[in-house]
Amino acid sequence: MAQSLISDNLRHIKAMMPAGVDLVAVSKFHPVEALQQAYDAGQRIFGENRVQELAAKVDLMPADVQWHMIGHLQTNKVRVAVRCANMIESVDSVRLLQLINKEAQRIDKVIDVLLQLHVAQEEAKSGFGVGELLQALTVGELDGMDHVRVCGLMAMASLTDDEEQIDREFAIVNDTFNVVKEEFYADRPEFKHISMGMSHDWPIAVRHGATLVRIGSAIFGPRQY
Ligand SMILES: *Cc1c(COP(=O)(O)O)cnc(C)c1O
Repeated sequence: MAQSLISDNLRHIKAMMPAGVDLVAVSKFHPVEALQQAYDAGQRIFGENRVQELAAKVDLMPADVQWHMIGHLQTNKVRVAVRCANMIESVDSVRLLQLINKEAQRIDKVIDVLLQLHVAQEEAKSGFGVGELLQALTVGELDGMDHVRVCGLMAMASLTDDEEQIDREFAIVNDTFNVVKEEFYADRPEFKHISMGMSHDWPIAVRHGATLVRIGSAIFGPRQY
């Protein structure tokens, strides 16, 4: 996409976004030239969903970029993800969190993570169920991991045109965030993020308290897989 288009798209989105909401530019499948154009327009947070692509781009982009891993993470990719990412948004199991903690400890890093909540209708999407997450927290399964900093929740709504459905799902995420914050992270100021909302549904997400929105195609255009 032409330089002016990417920066125009960014400016347009940011103008509509309330203060306190950060934009994750989802750059998966787009070439580094496109990321560089967004960077030149002031964008600093980028999201990728495949570890190999993330690792390749980290080496080619300026060092002050904040990289968010947003895709399902296979256990054999955890080591590279922990090395490359500033935040792993897609933590969908206790076992994965334990592995991330172990790999971070190995390289003496404390890595920011979000717990991914499953609220969509699609079974294929990953994430903790609401009850499952509350249960794991209650029994202390997430305790004692000093090399991860749990910064909040991440979620995706169902892929649908039904805005009321999306609205209900984002409301569940917000409610769950408030419960988890109050009961388990009240003394943790870093537990403050709700990452939700994509190109087609981010205004709804912001109405439900999103602090991070993950926007790809509305910035970079359609992906060429
Ligand atoms: C691709 C992706 C996005 C961005 O999707 P767009 O529709 O291009 O904005 C957001 N979140 C996740 C987890 C993704 O995989």
